[in-house]
Amino acid sequence: MLLKALLDILFPPLCHCCRAFIPGRAEIHLCPACMGTIRVIDSPLCPVCGVPHARKGGIDHLCGTCLTATRPFDRARSALGFDGPVQDLIHRFKYGKKAHLSRPLGLLASRFLEGLRTDAAADLIVPVPLHDRRLRARGFNQAQLIGAVVAKRWGIPLSADNLRRIRWTEPQTGLAAADRERNVRGAFEVVRPERFEGRRLLLVDDVFTTGSTVTECARALKTAGAREVSVLTVARALS
Ligand SMILES: [Zn+2]
Ligand SMILES: [Zn+2]
Repeated sequence: MLLKALLDILFPPLCHCCRAFIPGRAEIHLCPACMGTIRVIDSPLCPVCGVPHARKGGIDHLCGTCLTATRPFDRARSALGFDGPVQDLIHRFKYGKKAHLSRPLGLLASRFLEGLRTDAAADLIVPVPLHDRRLRARGFNQAQLIGAVVAKRWGIPLSADNLRRIRWTEPQTGLAAADRERNVRGAFEVVRPERFEGRRLLLVDDVFTTGSTVTECARALKTAGAREVSVLTVARALS
C-alpha cells in the first residue's frame, strides 16, 4: 500500500487517452476532461437489444426491429457510445496490441452496466471467441480479456474454452448488415453443451455494431441448451 502510494507520487498515473496527469487515485485512468466526453448509454432504450431511443425521457420500450424480429439473446446492453475517446481506446487496444487497456474498458463496462449484472444473474461469462488464425495474429482475444476483468469484478466464473469459432470469417468492418449476418452464420459451436445446459450465460464482446456476431453466438448457446443469454458489450455504434 505504501509502495503503491510512493509509486503514485513518483510516477503519477496518466490518462489512457490524452496522457494528462490524473489527479487523486482514480481506479480508471481517464482524466475528467476525457471522462466528460464519454457517452454513457442510458434509458430510455430497447429492453431487448439495448439500442438507446433518440427521444430522451420516458420509459424503456421495444425498438422497431425487436418488435418484429426474434432475437436469440434475452437482453443486450452496451455501456458506452462507440465514438470519441472510447473508439480511440478500443482501436488502440485491438489493433495497437495494447492488452493492458482491457482493464479500463472492462472496469467502465462493469461500472455502467450494474443493471445488466442484476438482470442477467449470470452463472458464467462467455467471451466471443476469435478464430485461431486471428488469435495468433493479434496475440490475444480482446473479448476474453474484457470478460476476465468483468468476471473478476462481478465474481462470476469465466468460461473461455467452450464456445468456439469453427469457421474463418472475413472482418465485419465495412460490411452491410445483411452481409455481416451471412458472414458469421454457422461460425460458432459449443464444444460441450452439457456445460451450458440450463445455465444463465453472459456473452461478452468489445463492440456491438449490428449485433450479428453476438446474435450468432447466442444462437449457438441457446442450441446448446442455455436457459438465458445476456450480452454485454463495452461500446455500441450509434447512428
Ligand atoms: Zn484525458
Ligand atoms: Zn431492440
